[in-house]
Amino acid sequence: MAHRVLVAAELQNLLEPSQLTGLDVTWISTGEPTPRGDWVAIVPLLSRWLGGTEFKNLPQLRIVANMAVGYNNIDLVAAEMRRVLVTNTPGVLTDATADLTWALILATARRLVEGVDLIRNGQWTGWHPEQLLGLELNGRTLGLLGAGRIGQAVGRRAIPFGLRLLYSARTAKPEFERDSGATRVDIKRLLATSDIVSLHVPATPETQGIINAESLALMKPGAILINTSRGDLVREEALAAALERGHLGAAGLDVYSDEPAIHPRLRAAPRTVLLPHIGSATEETRRKMAGIALANVQAVLQGQPPLTPVY
Ligand code: NAP
Repeated sequence: MAHRVLVAAELQNLLEPSQLTGLDVTWISTGEPTPRGDWVAIVPLLSRWLGGTEFKNLPQLRIVANMAVGYNNIDLVAAEMRRVLVTNTPGVLTDATADLTWALILATARRLVEGVDLIRNGQWTGWHPEQLLGLELNGRTLGLLGAGRIGQAVGRRAIPFGLRLLYSARTAKPEFERDSGATRVDIKRLLATSDIVSLHVPATPETQGIINAESLALMKPGAILINTSRGDLVREEALAAALERGHLGAAGLDVYSDEPAIHPRLRAAPRTVLLPHIGSATEETRRKMAGIALANVQAVLQGQPPLTPVY
């Protein structure tokens, strides 16, 4: 008998029929509440919250196969209590997300959006020696807050740009230090000495609001903040204030604390490059993410261990 599973409807075009063999799929769209019933697996997007109530409504549930590497949309304690396995999609999105982080670094450092706007608005009057002066990367310092898969991939890409690398992490990364010349420092030193600070820690109770008025004040005047991790890391009102005052040079963001809503003050703040959470958005990566999520479901429903469990 086919296993009844709930799968995000938005994945339909990214999955091959062979990946759904043996599954009786109910497609659920974003915005549709998580239903009550006897489904044994769910493949949600990162925008779907799954906590105590949802687990209670799905008493047969054996696995949540999240379509993301981050899993802050799932109450892990509630899942563990209900003995529901949780999996994510690590690794396959590392390069795509690191590339997008670099798109934001370059766009903010070299004032790309302001330049595009100047042309689009018909306001460009010609070459000027002091027009849209940006930050020269060579010789500057990039600080990585979190140096896991994505943080390290961002760091490796910094070497040909001539950036000096600092990182903060709970554990030392000797191999990364050897390969990239990165130095591990505490977070205060990272904030105080980096010209660009890029966030790569997951959203957890400890990292929530890690970038706030106090930490922003520690950053160098004119420094750039990049966030391609999770919106919950940043207190958006404090960031908007730092941009308005001109304390920060720029901010490049892909993620927000209340997606898809953007704090109005942040949306209006100067010198921002704001993207709509597209860190992993390449055709190859999205197919691989969907494939891993379904492979986790298939493994668990066939009595095998999950491929990429989060705990
Ligand atoms: P990862 O390999 O697990 O790296 C996370 C790093 O943060 C690890 O080095 C980890 O441990 C460190 N860390 C964890 N908790 C910490 C804490 N409380 N304080 C300081 N450091 C802490 O994860 P990843 O694959 O690089 O992904 C990172 C995040 O990127 C994900 O959680 C996800 O939210 C986000 N992401 C966003 C997009 C997007 O579309 N924009 C795409 C992919 C991923 P150690 O400190 O022990 O090293």
